[in-house]
Amino acid sequence: MQLKDPSLFRQAALVGETWTEANGTGIAVTDPATGESIGYVPKLGVAETRTAIGFAEKAQKSWAARTAKERSNILRRWFDLMIENKEDLGRILTREQGKPLAEAIGEIAYGASFIEWFAEEARRVYGDLIPGHRPDARIMVMKQPIGVVAAITPWNFPSAMITRKAGPALASGCAMVLKPASQTPFSAIALAVLAERAGLPPGLFSVITGSAREIGGEMTANPIVRKLTFTGSTEVGAELYRQSAPTIKKLGLELGGNAPFIVFDDADLDAAVDGALIAKFRNNGQTCVCANRLYVHDKVYDAFAEKLGAAVATLKTGHGFDEGINLGPLIDKAALEKVEQHIADAVEKGAKILRGGKPHTLGGTFFEPTILADVPPEALMAREETFGPVAPLFRFVDEADVIAQANDTEFGLAAYFYANDLSRVWRVAEALEYGMVGVNTGLISTAEAPFGGVKSSGLGREGSRYGIDDYLEIKYVSLGGI
Ligand code: ADP
Repeated sequence: MQLKDPSLFRQAALVGETWTEANGTGIAVTDPATGESIGYVPKLGVAETRTAIGFAEKAQKSWAARTAKERSNILRRWFDLMIENKEDLGRILTREQGKPLAEAIGEIAYGASFIEWFAEEARRVYGDLIPGHRPDARIMVMKQPIGVVAAITPWNFPSAMITRKAGPALASGCAMVLKPASQTPFSAIALAVLAERAGLPPGLFSVITGSAREIGGEMTANPIVRKLTFTGSTEVGAELYRQSAPTIKKLGLELGGNAPFIVFDDADLDAAVDGALIAKFRNNGQTCVCANRLYVHDKVYDAFAEKLGAAVATLKTGHGFDEGINLGPLIDKAALEKVEQHIADAVEKGAKILRGGKPHTLGGTFFEPTILADVPPEALMAREETFGPVAPLFRFVDEADVIAQANDTEFGLAAYFYANDLSRVWRVAEALEYGMVGVNTGLISTAEAPFGGVKSSGLGREGSRYGIDDYLEIKYVSLGGI
Protein backbone atom coordinates (compact mmCIF):
# COMPACT_ATOMS: atom_id res chain seq x y z
CA MET A 1 0.00 0.00 0.00
CA GLN A 2 1.38 3.40 -1.01
CA LEU A 3 1.19 5.65 2.04
CA LYS A 4 2.80 9.00 2.73
CA ASP A 5 3.25 7.84 6.31
CA PRO A 6 3.74 4.05 6.31
CA SER A 7 3.77 3.96 10.12
CA LEU A 8 -0.04 4.34 10.03
CA PHE A 9 -0.37 0.82 8.68
CA ARG A 10 0.47 -1.30 11.65
CA GLN A 11 -0.07 -5.07 11.90
CA ALA A 12 -0.55 -5.05 15.63
CA ALA A 13 -3.06 -4.59 18.42
CA LEU A 14 -2.82 -2.15 21.32
CA VAL A 15 -3.35 -3.91 24.64
CA GLY A 16 -3.32 -1.32 27.39
CA GLU A 17 0.07 0.38 27.14
CA THR A 18 1.69 -2.25 24.88
CA TRP A 19 1.61 -2.92 21.17
CA THR A 20 1.33 -6.63 20.34
CA GLU A 21 2.69 -7.40 16.88
CA ALA A 22 1.09 -9.99 14.59
CA ASN A 23 4.41 -11.12 13.07
CA GLY A 24 2.75 -12.78 10.10
CA THR A 25 0.27 -14.86 12.07
CA GLY A 26 -3.19 -14.38 13.55
CA ILE A 27 -6.09 -13.06 11.51
CA ALA A 28 -5.43 -12.55 7.80
CA VAL A 29 -7.11 -9.45 6.38
CA THR A 30 -7.97 -9.43 2.68
CA ASP A 31 -8.81 -6.77 0.10
CA PRO A 32 -12.46 -7.47 -0.81
CA ALA A 33 -11.88 -6.12 -4.33
CA THR A 34 -9.08 -8.53 -5.21
CA GLY A 35 -9.07 -11.23 -2.53
CA GLU A 36 -5.37 -10.44 -1.93
CA SER A 37 -3.99 -10.63 1.57
CA ILE A 38 -3.20 -7.21 3.04
CA GLY A 39 -1.62 -8.35 6.28
CA TYR A 40 -2.29 -9.79 9.70
CA VAL A 41 -3.56 -8.68 13.07
CA PRO A 42 -3.07 -10.67 16.27
CA LYS A 43 -5.76 -13.12 17.28
CA LEU A 44 -6.34 -12.13 20.88
CA GLY A 45 -8.94 -13.29 23.38
CA VAL A 46 -10.07 -13.23 26.99
CA ALA A 47 -6.68 -12.66 28.65
CA GLU A 48 -5.68 -9.64 26.55
CA THR A 49 -9.15 -8.13 26.86
CA ARG A 50 -8.97 -8.45 30.64
CA THR A 51 -5.51 -6.86 30.65
CA ALA A 52 -6.73 -3.96 28.54
CA ILE A 53 -9.73 -3.43 30.83
CA GLY A 54 -7.37 -3.33 33.83
CA PHE A 55 -5.23 -0.65 32.19
CA ALA A 56 -8.34 1.25 31.19
CA GLU A 57 -9.60 1.27 34.77
CA LYS A 58 -6.35 2.80 36.00
CA ALA A 59 -5.95 5.32 33.21
CA GLN A 60 -9.59 6.43 33.40
CA LYS A 61 -9.31 7.82 36.93
CA SER A 62 -6.56 10.30 36.15
CA TRP A 63 -8.13 11.12 32.77
CA ALA A 64 -11.42 12.00 34.45
CA ALA A 65 -9.55 14.14 36.97
CA ARG A 66 -8.11 16.35 34.24
CA THR A 67 -9.95 19.49 33.26
CA ALA A 68 -12.39 19.22 30.39
CA LYS A 69 -10.21 21.67 28.47
CA GLU A 70 -7.18 19.41 28.74
CA ARG A 71 -9.16 16.46 27.44
CA SER A 72 -10.63 18.65 24.75
CA ASN A 73 -7.19 19.80 23.59
CA ILE A 74 -5.95 16.24 23.15
CA LEU A 75 -9.08 15.24 21.25
CA ARG A 76 -8.69 18.31 19.08
CA ARG A 77 -5.13 17.24 18.23
CA TRP A 78 -6.44 13.77 17.35
CA PHE A 79 -8.98 15.39 15.02
CA ASP A 80 -6.26 17.54 13.40
CA LEU A 81 -4.07 14.47 12.86
CA MET A 82 -6.94 12.59 11.24
CA ILE A 83 -7.51 15.45 8.83
CA GLU A 84 -3.78 15.85 8.10
CA ASN A 85 -3.59 12.13 7.33
CA LYS A 86 -6.95 11.70 5.65
CA GLU A 87 -5.54 10.45 2.33
CA ASP A 88 -3.52 7.71 4.03
CA LEU A 89 -6.39 6.78 6.34
CA GLY A 90 -8.68 6.69 3.30
CA ARG A 91 -6.28 4.40 1.44
CA ILE A 92 -6.12 1.97 4.36
CA LEU A 93 -9.91 2.04 4.56
CA THR A 94 -10.47 1.41 0.85
CA ARG A 95 -7.92 -1.40 0.86
CA GLU A 96 -9.64 -3.35 3.62
CA GLN A 97 -13.27 -2.35 3.03
CA GLY A 98 -13.55 -1.77 -0.72
CA LYS A 99 -15.45 1.55 -0.86
CA PRO A 100 -14.28 4.08 -3.49
CA LEU A 101 -11.33 6.15 -2.29
CA ALA A 102 -13.25 9.45 -2.43
CA GLU A 103 -15.97 7.92 -0.29
CA ALA A 104 -13.36 6.50 2.11
CA ILE A 105 -11.71 9.92 2.51
CA GLY A 106 -15.22 11.29 3.03
CA GLU A 107 -15.70 8.78 5.83
CA ILE A 108 -12.45 9.92 7.47
CA ALA A 109 -13.64 13.54 7.42
CA TYR A 110 -17.06 12.48 8.72
CA GLY A 111 -15.45 10.27 11.41
CA ALA A 112 -13.05 13.02 12.44
CA SER A 113 -15.98 15.43 12.80
CA PHE A 114 -17.19 13.40 15.81
CA ILE A 115 -13.84 13.86 17.54
CA GLU A 116 -13.99 17.58 16.79
CA TRP A 117 -17.61 17.88 17.94
CA PHE A 118 -17.07 16.03 21.21
CA ALA A 119 -13.82 17.87 21.87
CA GLU A 120 -16.06 20.94 21.89
CA GLU A 121 -18.83 19.28 23.91
CA ALA A 122 -16.37 18.11 26.59
CA ARG A 123 -16.44 21.62 28.10
CA ARG A 124 -20.21 21.82 28.17
CA VAL A 125 -21.06 18.95 30.50
CA TYR A 126 -23.19 21.05 32.83
CA GLY A 127 -24.97 19.98 35.99
CA ASP A 128 -28.05 21.51 37.63
CA LEU A 129 -29.00 23.29 40.82
CA ILE A 130 -32.59 22.54 41.80
CA PRO A 131 -34.56 24.50 44.45
CA GLY A 132 -34.74 22.38 47.60
CA HIS A 133 -37.75 20.53 48.97
CA ARG A 134 -37.09 21.98 52.44
CA PRO A 135 -36.02 25.50 53.42
CA ASP A 136 -32.63 24.22 54.59
CA ALA A 137 -31.95 21.97 51.56
CA ARG A 138 -30.56 22.37 48.08
CA ILE A 139 -30.51 19.75 45.35
CA MET A 140 -27.39 19.52 43.24
CA VAL A 141 -27.02 17.42 40.11
CA MET A 142 -23.59 16.63 38.72
CA LYS A 143 -22.66 14.57 35.69
CA GLN A 144 -19.74 12.17 35.89
CA PRO A 145 -18.15 9.78 33.38
CA ILE A 146 -19.52 6.23 33.47
CA GLY A 147 -16.00 4.77 33.68
CA VAL A 148 -14.63 2.01 31.47
CA VAL A 149 -16.48 1.57 28.19
CA ALA A 150 -16.18 -1.40 25.83
CA ALA A 151 -16.93 -0.90 22.15
CA ILE A 152 -17.55 -3.37 19.34
CA THR A 153 -17.72 -1.95 15.82
CA PRO A 154 -18.62 -3.20 12.31
CA TRP A 155 -16.84 -3.27 8.95
CA ASN A 156 -19.13 -1.00 6.94
CA PHE A 157 -17.73 2.22 8.44
CA PRO A 158 -14.39 1.01 9.82
CA SER A 159 -13.34 4.47 11.02
CA ALA A 160 -16.46 6.56 11.70
CA MET A 161 -18.22 3.96 13.85
CA ILE A 162 -15.21 4.10 16.16
CA THR A 163 -14.88 7.87 16.44
CA ARG A 164 -18.62 8.24 17.01
CA LYS A 165 -18.13 6.18 20.19
CA ALA A 166 -14.59 7.13 21.22
CA GLY A 167 -15.30 10.86 20.82
CA PRO A 168 -18.02 11.15 23.50
CA ALA A 169 -16.46 8.45 25.70
CA LEU A 170 -13.07 10.15 25.93
CA ALA A 171 -14.51 13.67 26.01
CA SER A 172 -16.64 12.83 29.04
CA GLY A 173 -13.71 11.25 30.89
CA CYS A 174 -14.28 7.56 30.17
CA ALA A 175 -11.70 5.02 28.96
CA MET A 176 -12.35 2.72 26.00
CA VAL A 177 -11.45 -0.82 25.03
CA LEU A 178 -12.35 -1.40 21.39
CA LYS A 179 -12.83 -4.51 19.32
CA PRO A 180 -13.00 -3.58 15.63
CA ALA A 181 -14.50 -5.90 13.00
CA SER A 182 -12.01 -8.55 11.92
CA GLN A 183 -12.55 -7.67 8.24
CA THR A 184 -11.41 -4.05 8.81
CA PRO A 185 -9.04 -3.76 11.77
CA PHE A 186 -6.35 -1.60 10.14
CA SER A 187 -8.46 1.57 10.14
CA ALA A 188 -8.97 1.13 13.89
CA ILE A 189 -5.28 0.54 14.48
CA ALA A 190 -4.33 3.62 12.46
CA LEU A 191 -6.67 5.65 14.68
CA ALA A 192 -4.88 4.28 17.75
CA VAL A 193 -1.50 5.27 16.29
CA LEU A 194 -2.77 8.82 15.83
CA ALA A 195 -4.41 8.88 19.26
CA GLU A 196 -1.05 8.04 20.82
CA ARG A 197 0.57 10.78 18.75
CA ALA A 198 -2.09 13.25 19.86
CA GLY A 199 -1.10 12.64 23.48
CA LEU A 200 -3.86 10.35 24.71
CA PRO A 201 -2.51 8.82 27.93
CA PRO A 202 -1.25 5.22 27.67
CA GLY A 203 -3.81 2.57 28.60
CA LEU A 204 -6.82 4.82 28.05
CA PHE A 205 -7.68 3.48 24.59
CA SER A 206 -7.01 -0.14 23.60
CA VAL A 207 -7.66 -1.87 20.30
CA ILE A 208 -8.09 -5.62 20.72
CA THR A 209 -8.26 -7.73 17.57
CA GLY A 210 -9.32 -11.37 17.58
CA SER A 211 -12.14 -13.70 18.44
CA ALA A 212 -15.46 -11.84 18.66
CA ARG A 213 -16.96 -14.42 21.00
CA GLU A 214 -14.04 -14.38 23.42
CA ILE A 215 -13.46 -10.63 23.44
CA GLY A 216 -17.21 -9.89 23.55
CA GLY A 217 -17.62 -12.47 26.29
CA GLU A 218 -15.01 -10.82 28.53
CA MET A 219 -16.24 -7.32 27.74
CA THR A 220 -19.77 -8.22 28.82
CA ALA A 221 -18.83 -10.39 31.83
CA ASN A 222 -16.22 -8.08 33.34
CA PRO A 223 -17.76 -5.93 36.09
CA ILE A 224 -15.20 -3.14 35.56
CA VAL A 225 -16.81 -2.38 32.20
CA ARG A 226 -19.77 -0.12 32.99
CA LYS A 227 -21.02 0.46 29.47
CA LEU A 228 -20.98 -1.52 26.27
CA THR A 229 -21.49 0.27 22.98
CA PHE A 230 -22.08 -1.83 19.90
CA THR A 231 -22.86 -1.22 16.25
CA GLY A 232 -23.80 -4.27 14.20
CA SER A 233 -26.56 -6.76 13.66
CA THR A 234 -29.67 -6.98 15.84
CA GLU A 235 -28.92 -10.65 16.41
CA VAL A 236 -25.48 -10.03 17.93
CA GLY A 237 -26.78 -6.92 19.73
CA ALA A 238 -29.43 -8.99 21.48
CA GLU A 239 -26.82 -11.56 22.46
CA LEU A 240 -24.58 -8.86 23.96
CA TYR A 241 -27.61 -7.38 25.76
CA ARG A 242 -28.28 -10.79 27.33
CA GLN A 243 -24.62 -11.26 28.24
CA SER A 244 -24.54 -7.84 29.89
CA ALA A 245 -27.56 -8.49 32.12
CA PRO A 246 -25.76 -10.08 35.10
CA THR A 247 -23.51 -7.02 35.54
CA ILE A 248 -26.29 -4.49 34.73
CA LYS A 249 -24.25 -2.57 32.19
CA LYS A 250 -25.49 0.42 30.33
CA LEU A 251 -25.96 -0.41 26.69
CA GLY A 252 -25.63 1.64 23.54
CA LEU A 253 -26.86 -0.39 20.59
CA GLU A 254 -26.92 0.74 16.96
CA LEU A 255 -28.48 -2.23 15.23
CA GLY A 256 -30.12 -3.16 11.96
CA GLY A 257 -32.51 -1.07 9.93
CA ASN A 258 -34.98 -1.57 7.12
CA ALA A 259 -35.42 1.98 5.89
CA PRO A 260 -38.47 2.94 3.84
CA PHE A 261 -38.02 5.66 1.20
CA ILE A 262 -41.40 7.08 0.18
CA VAL A 263 -41.98 9.21 -2.91
CA PHE A 264 -45.37 10.97 -2.77
CA ASP A 265 -47.10 12.30 -5.88
CA ASP A 266 -46.35 15.92 -4.89
CA ALA A 267 -42.61 15.25 -4.63
CA ASP A 268 -39.90 16.86 -6.73
CA LEU A 269 -38.98 13.71 -8.65
CA ASP A 270 -35.48 14.81 -9.66
CA ALA A 271 -34.66 15.60 -6.05
CA ALA A 272 -36.15 12.24 -5.01
CA VAL A 273 -33.92 10.43 -7.51
CA ASP A 274 -30.83 12.26 -6.21
CA GLY A 275 -31.84 11.35 -2.65
CA ALA A 276 -32.50 7.73 -3.58
CA LEU A 277 -29.06 7.41 -5.15
CA ILE A 278 -27.41 8.53 -1.92
CA ALA A 279 -29.76 6.72 0.45
CA LYS A 280 -29.63 3.50 -1.54
CA PHE A 281 -26.25 3.20 -3.22
CA ARG A 282 -23.84 4.87 -0.80
CA ASN A 283 -21.29 2.30 0.41
CA ASN A 284 -22.80 -0.06 -2.19
CA GLY A 285 -25.99 -0.33 -0.14
CA GLN A 286 -24.10 -1.52 2.93
CA THR A 287 -25.19 0.97 5.58
CA CYS A 288 -27.79 0.47 8.29
CA VAL A 289 -29.58 3.64 7.15
CA CYS A 290 -29.69 2.57 3.48
CA ALA A 291 -33.10 2.77 1.82
CA ASN A 292 -34.24 -0.83 1.71
CA ARG A 293 -37.77 -0.35 0.39
CA LEU A 294 -38.73 2.37 -2.09
CA TYR A 295 -42.48 3.10 -2.02
CA VAL A 296 -43.54 5.19 -4.99
CA HIS A 297 -46.99 6.69 -5.56
CA ASP A 298 -48.85 5.12 -8.46
CA LYS A 299 -49.17 8.48 -10.27
CA VAL A 300 -45.40 9.05 -10.42
CA TYR A 301 -44.23 5.43 -10.35
CA ASP A 302 -43.29 5.06 -14.02
CA ALA A 303 -41.65 8.48 -14.25
CA PHE A 304 -39.63 7.85 -11.07
CA ALA A 305 -38.57 4.37 -12.24
CA GLU A 306 -37.37 5.80 -15.55
CA LYS A 307 -35.43 8.67 -13.97
CA LEU A 308 -33.89 6.37 -11.35
CA GLY A 309 -32.92 3.92 -14.10
CA ALA A 310 -31.16 6.70 -16.03
CA ALA A 311 -29.32 7.83 -12.88
CA VAL A 312 -28.26 4.31 -11.91
CA ALA A 313 -26.97 3.76 -15.47
CA THR A 314 -24.29 6.39 -14.76
CA LEU A 315 -22.94 4.57 -11.67
CA LYS A 316 -19.56 2.91 -12.23
CA THR A 317 -18.58 -0.24 -10.38
CA GLY A 318 -14.95 -1.11 -9.80
CA HIS A 319 -11.90 -1.21 -7.59
CA GLY A 320 -12.03 1.58 -5.03
CA PHE A 321 -8.65 2.93 -6.14
CA ASP A 322 -9.73 3.40 -9.78
CA GLU A 323 -10.77 6.87 -10.93
CA GLY A 324 -14.45 7.76 -11.16
CA ILE A 325 -15.76 4.70 -9.36
CA ASN A 326 -19.09 4.96 -7.49
CA LEU A 327 -19.56 1.40 -6.27
CA GLY A 328 -16.97 -1.00 -4.84
CA PRO A 329 -17.31 -4.71 -4.13
CA LEU A 330 -19.54 -6.22 -1.47
CA ILE A 331 -17.66 -7.07 1.70
CA ASP A 332 -17.63 -10.85 1.22
CA LYS A 333 -19.19 -13.85 -0.48
CA ALA A 334 -21.92 -14.25 2.14
CA ALA A 335 -23.04 -10.66 1.43
CA LEU A 336 -23.21 -11.42 -2.30
CA GLU A 337 -25.20 -14.59 -1.69
CA LYS A 338 -27.74 -12.70 0.44
CA VAL A 339 -28.25 -10.13 -2.34
CA GLU A 340 -28.73 -12.93 -4.89
CA GLN A 341 -31.16 -14.72 -2.61
CA HIS A 342 -33.24 -11.58 -2.03
CA ILE A 343 -33.46 -10.88 -5.76
CA ALA A 344 -34.37 -14.49 -6.65
CA ASP A 345 -37.07 -14.47 -3.96
CA ALA A 346 -38.58 -11.18 -5.17
CA VAL A 347 -38.57 -12.30 -8.81
CA GLU A 348 -40.19 -15.61 -7.89
CA LYS A 349 -42.94 -13.65 -6.13
CA GLY A 350 -43.60 -11.48 -9.19
CA ALA A 351 -41.04 -8.64 -9.22
CA LYS A 352 -39.52 -7.49 -12.52
CA ILE A 353 -35.82 -6.68 -12.97
CA LEU A 354 -35.50 -3.21 -14.54
CA ARG A 355 -31.70 -3.07 -14.36
CA GLY A 356 -28.86 -5.26 -13.13
CA GLY A 357 -29.88 -8.25 -11.07
CA LYS A 358 -26.72 -10.32 -11.23
CA PRO A 359 -23.05 -10.46 -10.21
CA HIS A 360 -20.90 -7.98 -12.10
CA THR A 361 -18.62 -9.16 -14.90
CA LEU A 362 -15.69 -7.94 -12.77
CA GLY A 363 -16.21 -11.13 -10.75
CA GLY A 364 -15.37 -11.57 -7.08
CA THR A 365 -17.98 -9.92 -4.91
CA PHE A 366 -18.84 -7.13 -7.35
CA PHE A 367 -22.57 -6.85 -8.06
CA GLU A 368 -24.50 -4.84 -10.63
CA PRO A 369 -26.55 -1.93 -9.30
CA THR A 370 -30.06 -3.26 -9.51
CA ILE A 371 -33.60 -1.88 -9.74
CA LEU A 372 -36.62 -4.14 -9.25
CA ALA A 373 -40.17 -3.04 -10.08
CA ASP A 374 -43.53 -4.16 -8.70
CA VAL A 375 -42.01 -5.93 -5.72
CA PRO A 376 -44.79 -7.56 -3.69
CA PRO A 377 -45.07 -6.93 0.07
CA GLU A 378 -44.45 -10.66 0.74
CA ALA A 379 -40.91 -10.43 -0.68
CA LEU A 380 -38.07 -11.13 1.74
CA MET A 381 -36.56 -7.72 0.98
CA ALA A 382 -39.69 -6.03 2.35
CA ARG A 383 -38.82 -7.43 5.80
CA GLU A 384 -35.05 -7.97 5.88
CA GLU A 385 -32.10 -5.69 5.23
CA THR A 386 -30.62 -6.59 1.82
CA PHE A 387 -27.33 -4.73 2.47
CA GLY A 388 -26.46 -4.46 -1.20
CA PRO A 389 -26.98 -2.29 -4.31
CA VAL A 390 -30.61 -3.28 -4.87
CA ALA A 391 -33.46 -0.76 -5.14
CA PRO A 392 -36.84 -2.50 -4.89
CA LEU A 393 -39.81 -0.36 -5.99
CA PHE A 394 -43.19 -0.90 -4.32
CA ARG A 395 -46.32 0.80 -5.65
CA PHE A 396 -48.79 2.61 -3.38
CA VAL A 397 -51.87 4.82 -3.68
CA ASP A 398 -52.94 5.81 -0.19
CA GLU A 399 -50.97 7.84 2.38
CA ALA A 400 -52.27 5.98 5.44
CA ASP A 401 -51.60 2.67 3.76
CA VAL A 402 -47.99 3.50 2.87
CA ILE A 403 -47.33 4.71 6.43
CA ALA A 404 -48.69 1.42 7.75
CA GLN A 405 -46.45 -0.53 5.35
CA ALA A 406 -43.44 1.60 6.21
CA ASN A 407 -43.99 0.93 9.93
CA ASP A 408 -44.70 -2.77 9.48
CA THR A 409 -41.23 -3.92 10.52
CA GLU A 410 -39.42 -4.77 13.74
CA PHE A 411 -36.86 -2.08 12.85
CA GLY A 412 -37.01 1.66 13.40
CA LEU A 413 -33.73 3.31 12.44
CA ALA A 414 -34.02 5.66 9.44
CA ALA A 415 -36.90 6.55 7.12
CA TYR A 416 -37.00 8.97 4.19
CA PHE A 417 -39.78 10.62 2.26
CA TYR A 418 -40.21 13.16 -0.48
CA ALA A 419 -43.26 15.46 -0.45
CA ASN A 420 -43.97 19.16 -0.73
CA ASP A 421 -47.39 19.54 0.87
CA LEU A 422 -46.62 21.09 4.26
CA SER A 423 -49.41 19.33 6.15
CA ARG A 424 -48.37 15.99 4.71
CA VAL A 425 -44.74 16.60 5.68
CA TRP A 426 -45.78 17.07 9.32
CA ARG A 427 -48.28 14.20 9.31
CA VAL A 428 -45.89 11.68 7.82
CA ALA A 429 -42.84 12.80 9.82
CA GLU A 430 -44.86 12.33 13.02
CA ALA A 431 -46.40 9.01 12.00
CA LEU A 432 -43.20 7.20 10.98
CA GLU A 433 -41.98 5.00 13.86
CA TYR A 434 -38.30 5.70 13.33
CA GLY A 435 -35.48 7.33 15.25
CA MET A 436 -34.52 9.44 12.21
CA VAL A 437 -36.55 10.80 9.33
CA GLY A 438 -35.10 12.44 6.24
CA VAL A 439 -37.62 14.76 4.57
CA ASN A 440 -36.60 15.69 1.02
CA THR A 441 -33.07 14.49 1.72
CA GLY A 442 -31.30 11.16 1.41
CA LEU A 443 -28.39 12.00 3.67
CA ILE A 444 -29.08 12.50 7.36
CA SER A 445 -25.90 11.54 9.23
CA THR A 446 -23.89 14.36 10.77
CA ALA A 447 -22.05 14.94 14.05
CA GLU A 448 -24.55 17.66 15.02
CA ALA A 449 -27.61 15.34 14.95
CA PRO A 450 -28.70 12.47 17.21
CA PHE A 451 -28.23 9.18 15.35
CA GLY A 452 -30.11 6.15 16.61
CA GLY A 453 -33.14 3.94 16.32
CA VAL A 454 -36.25 2.70 18.06
CA LYS A 455 -37.70 -0.83 18.34
CA SER A 456 -35.20 -3.55 17.34
CA SER A 457 -32.87 -0.94 15.85
CA GLY A 458 -31.34 -0.18 19.20
CA LEU A 459 -30.82 1.94 22.28
CA GLY A 460 -29.25 5.34 22.76
CA ARG A 461 -28.12 8.12 20.45
CA GLU A 462 -24.74 8.95 18.95
CA GLY A 463 -23.59 12.40 17.92
CA SER A 464 -25.19 15.73 18.85
CA ARG A 465 -25.40 17.22 22.35
CA TYR A 466 -27.42 14.16 23.39
CA GLY A 467 -24.59 11.81 22.42
CA ILE A 468 -22.38 12.66 25.39
CA ASP A 469 -25.19 11.94 27.88
CA ASP A 470 -24.89 8.25 27.00
CA TYR A 471 -21.42 8.28 28.60
CA LEU A 472 -22.38 10.17 31.74
CA GLU A 473 -23.99 9.21 35.02
CA ILE A 474 -26.18 11.63 36.90
CA LYS A 475 -25.30 12.08 40.55
CA TYR A 476 -27.73 13.82 42.88
CA VAL A 477 -26.22 15.49 45.93
CA SER A 478 -28.63 16.59 48.65
CA LEU A 479 -27.28 19.52 50.65
CA GLY A 480 -28.99 19.86 54.00
CA GLY A 481 -28.57 22.08 57.06
CA ILE A 482 -28.18 25.31 55.13
P1 ADP B 1 -22.25 -7.38 10.56
O1 ADP B 1 -23.50 -7.93 9.96
O2 ADP B 1 -22.10 -5.90 10.45
O3 ADP B 1 -21.00 -8.15 10.27
P2 ADP B 1 -22.12 -8.38 13.24
O4 ADP B 1 -23.07 -8.06 14.31
O5 ADP B 1 -21.96 -9.81 12.84
O6 ADP B 1 -22.56 -7.45 12.08
O7 ADP B 1 -20.68 -7.84 13.58
C1 ADP B 1 -20.45 -6.57 14.12
C2 ADP B 1 -19.33 -6.67 15.12
O8 ADP B 1 -19.70 -7.56 16.15
C3 ADP B 1 -18.03 -7.21 14.56
O9 ADP B 1 -16.96 -6.53 15.19
C4 ADP B 1 -18.06 -8.67 14.96
O10 ADP B 1 -16.78 -9.22 15.05
C5 ADP B 1 -18.72 -8.56 16.33
N1 ADP B 1 -19.36 -9.80 16.78
C6 ADP B 1 -19.95 -10.76 16.06
N2 ADP B 1 -20.42 -11.75 16.86
C7 ADP B 1 -20.12 -11.40 18.14
C8 ADP B 1 -20.35 -11.99 19.44
N3 ADP B 1 -20.98 -13.12 19.58
N4 ADP B 1 -19.89 -11.31 20.51
C9 ADP B 1 -19.26 -10.15 20.37
N5 ADP B 1 -19.02 -9.55 19.21
C10 ADP B 1 -19.45 -10.14 18.09
